[in-house]
Amino acid sequence: MKQLVFATNNINKTNEVRTLLAGQYEVLNLNDIGCTTDIPETADSFAGNAGLKSRFVMENFKLDCFADDSGLEVEALNNEPGIYSARYAGQRGDEANLQLVLQKMQGQVNRAARFRTVISLIQNGEEFLFEGTIEGTIRETKSGDHGFGYDPVFQPDGYDVTFAEMSMEQKNKISHRAIAMRKLITFLKEQAV
Ligand code: IMP
Repeated sequence: MKQLVFATNNINKTNEVRTLLAGQYEVLNLNDIGCTTDIPETADSFAGNAGLKSRFVMENFKLDCFADDSGLEVEALNNEPGIYSARYAGQRGDEANLQLVLQKMQGQVNRAARFRTVISLIQNGEEFLFEGTIEGTIRETKSGDHGFGYDPVFQPDGYDVTFAEMSMEQKNKISHRAIAMRKLITFLKEQAV
């Protein structure tokens, strides 16, 4: 069976993709291939950072690979925090990042925002990109305690709850990551036939 690396250390993400590609690809993660390097994410876009990770694995381990990169884009903040989503308030973590967004959004009328994921797949030396976005708004205050990151302040369009008030199953059906991942899986299944 064809081997494919998912450039992540997250076992839950890995298992989810393993299930979706069962019988068609053997999915390995960074731990499985013995990659302990903290791959630098120094590009200026989600696609650039995802590409740095997938190319690093391809060049150093000679294996086909895909990698994802995600973040929150707030219109009134010139699409910040964007690629800086994980470290918007320095290294102080999710709560500090979220509070900084709430603070900068105080008094803002335009509350439109989106989550974006880009996946870079390197297959036989060629790169393919897959993107998923979900549009929504930034609440005035946080609500809900599920999920992670900016989930408590992001309300997807068409819902009256935040991502953090949804069950994991519900969020995982509609999220930016799920949309990008579905595009990748469809592409890979077509290749495998
Ligand atoms: P990553 O590229 O998936 O590691 O995401 C980078 C950062 O974007 C995370 O540390 C979060 O701050 C933010 N982020 C990405 N996806 C989500 C999400 O689904 N909910 C909340 N925050 C997210």
